[in-house]
Amino acid sequence: MSFYSLKMRASKNSQHVSGAEKILHEQELPAQMNALLSRALHHAKGQADFINMKIETVRPDDLEYINALPVSSIMVNTPEEGQEVILQYLSKLGIKNGTEIMKRFADTYTMRGAILLDINDLSRLEPDFGRGIRATYMDAEHSLDRLPDSCKNHFQEAIVLASKVVAAPHIIAEICISDDPDYVTGYIAAKNIGYVRISKLKNMGCPNGGRIFLYQGPKQDVDKCINYLEKQRVLVCHVPYFPNEKSIMPINYIQQMEKYLQNKKELHLYRQTREITSAQSAHVIYQGRRMLMLASNNYLGLSNNTVVKESAEQAIKKYGCGSGGSRLTTGTLSLHNQLECALAKFKNTEAALLFNTGYMANLGIISAICQKGWIIYSDELNHASIIDGCRLSSARIVIYNHNNMDSLEAKLREFAPCHGLIVTDAVFSMDGDIASLPQIMSLSHKYNVLTMVDEAHATGVIGPNGKGICEYYKMEKKPDILMGTLSKSLGSEGGYVCGCKILIDYLRNTARSYIFSTSQSPAALAAALTALDILVNHPGIVKKLQKNVQCFCETLRINGISANSDSAIVPIKIGDEAKTIRIEKELFQQNIFLTAIRYPTVAKGAAILRAAVMATHTEAEIQLAAKKISAAINL
Ligand SMILES: *Cc1c(COP(=O)(O)O)cnc(C)c1O
Repeated sequence: MSFYSLKMRASKNSQHVSGAEKILHEQELPAQMNALLSRALHHAKGQADFINMKIETVRPDDLEYINALPVSSIMVNTPEEGQEVILQYLSKLGIKNGTEIMKRFADTYTMRGAILLDINDLSRLEPDFGRGIRATYMDAEHSLDRLPDSCKNHFQEAIVLASKVVAAPHIIAEICISDDPDYVTGYIAAKNIGYVRISKLKNMGCPNGGRIFLYQGPKQDVDKCINYLEKQRVLVCHVPYFPNEKSIMPINYIQQMEKYLQNKKELHLYRQTREITSAQSAHVIYQGRRMLMLASNNYLGLSNNTVVKESAEQAIKKYGCGSGGSRLTTGTLSLHNQLECALAKFKNTEAALLFNTGYMANLGIISAICQKGWIIYSDELNHASIIDGCRLSSARIVIYNHNNMDSLEAKLREFAPCHGLIVTDAVFSMDGDIASLPQIMSLSHKYNVLTMVDEAHATGVIGPNGKGICEYYKMEKKPDILMGTLSKSLGSEGGYVCGCKILIDYLRNTARSYIFSTSQSPAALAAALTALDILVNHPGIVKKLQKNVQCFCETLRINGISANSDSAIVPIKIGDEAKTIRIEKELFQQNIFLTAIRYPTVAKGAAILRAAVMATHTEAEIQLAAKKISAAINL
C-alpha cells in the first residue's frame, strides 16, 4: 500500500493564513485535499488568495513508525509559574543553564522555524538563523476510515511534532511557547518526561512564542539530526485526541495558598471577619464592648425593628423555616408572590421577580439577557456582582469611565449598531455617588440599547420617599431593568428585579440563579414584606436618614475633613492602606465601628473609610462620631 505526503500552505496578500501537512493513504487523498482546500477558502483570517498543495509519494520503506510521547498537563496560574515548571524539568534532565536557555526565546519571536541549541556551549547550530529548523514530514497514524478534518487539532499536531523532534538523534528536549496571541499554553517534551503541556507560559494577547530544540552531542552529527527533523517521514502512533488535564507535577496547594495570604498581609490587604454578638442596630456589641455602628447597610434600622421581627416569627410559625424547593418546583409560597406584587407596586413597574440575594440577581439577570455577540457597557466602579454577571454572560464587556457620559457615548458610538446593555449602580457602593441616569437613559434611547440599574443602595435611601433613583431624578420613564436587594435598607435578605411583564417572564424562564437554587425562606420574605410596608407608610424614616447624613457631613467639614453625600454612604478618602488601617484601629479603640475599604474593592493606594449613616442614629451620636473621626485622621 502506498502513502502520500500532502502539504498545504495558504496565504492572503502574502500573509500566512493556514497550513497543514499529512501523510495519507492513496484513497484518502481526494477527500483530504478537498477538506484542506475548503479550510483555506473559508478561514477565519480571511479567504486565501494563494493556495499551494504539494503531493509526494512516500515509499513504505522510508516511513518510520514511532510512539507518541505520554502526555500530561500542568495547570499554573501565571507565566512565571509556568517558566518555573520548565526550569524544574530541565534540571531533572540534568540541564543546569535553564535560565540562560529560556532567555534565548527572545531570538525565536521572528523565526518561522526553531532554534537548534547546543546545551553545552549554548551555540546555535542551525545553518540559517533567520529560517531556523522546520520539523516536517510527519502525521498521526490513523485508520483508513477517518473523516477529513474540517479544522485543525492543535493539540494533536503539537504532540506529533514533539514526538518526532525528540526522536531525532541527539535531541534531548524541545521547549515550545505558542506564537498565537490567543493561546497561552506551551510544552516541554523529552523522551523520559514525555510531553508536558503547561497551561500558561505567557499572557493573553502576547504574540511572542517560538521553539527551541536542545541538542547534546558531537558537532559532526548535527547534519544527521537536522536531516532527520526535515526529511525523515514519520508516522506517530497512539496520539491522544484531546488534552487531559491531569497534573503530574506535585504542587503543594496549601503552601501556595499560604504564600498568597502572607503576601496579602505584607500589603495590608489581608481580611478577617469580626464577630458581632448583638443585633445589627445603631449600636452593636463587639468583643464585649458597646460600639456605635457606622458601617452597616441596614440604613433604616429595619433589620431589628420590632414589627418586622414579629412578622418573621409569625411566618416561621405558619410556614416553617425553609422553603423546601426552588421557585419553579415546590418552593413558591404565597409570601413570594405577595412580595413580588408589593415590589412591583413600590417601583411602579408591571412585575417583579425575587432572587435569593442581590448578588444572585445580578448574575442571573445579566447572564440570561446578554448573549454572545452582545456588548455590555459597564461603569468602571460597578459592584462586583455586576462584574461577575457580565463575566458569566457570553457578551463582550466594555468598561466606561466612572459615571462619565462622554466616555459612555464614545463606547456606544464605537460599537453601534449593536445589541447592548448599559449597566450601572444607582448609588455607587463605595463612594456613595449617584449615577447620571437621565443622560444614561437618553443615550440608551439614542443607541437603542437596554438599561439596567442596580438600586442596592438607592432603595429606601434616595428620593423624597426612598423609592430610589427614578424618584430622586423625578423621572417618568424607567430603565428597562431595575434590580435591587432586600438586604440593605429593607433589613432582610434577597434580591429582586422589577420591569415589564415580558422581561420578568423571560427571566423566570432563563435566569439560572433563579431556577436552580432553593427559594428564600419564609422569615426573610415576611421581614422584607413588613419592612417594605413600613417604608411605604412611614416615609419619615427616610427623611430622618437623609437629615442624619447631612448632619454627619457638615460636622466632618466643620472639623476639617471634606465630606459630601446625597446617599447614606459617606466616603472619607485616606489613600494609603497602612494609614487607613491605623485610623480604623484608632476609632475601634474609641468604640466606633467603621470599615477601611481597600484593594481589591477599591483601587490600590485609594483606600477609604466608608461611613454609613443610619436613620436610627441620634444627631448627638453622629456629631460626636464625626469629631472623633476627624481627630483620628489628624493624629
Ligand atoms: C450589596 C450589593 C449587591 C448584592 O446584594 P446582596 O443582597 O448583598 O447579595 C449588589 N449590588 C450592589 C450595588 C450592592 O451594593
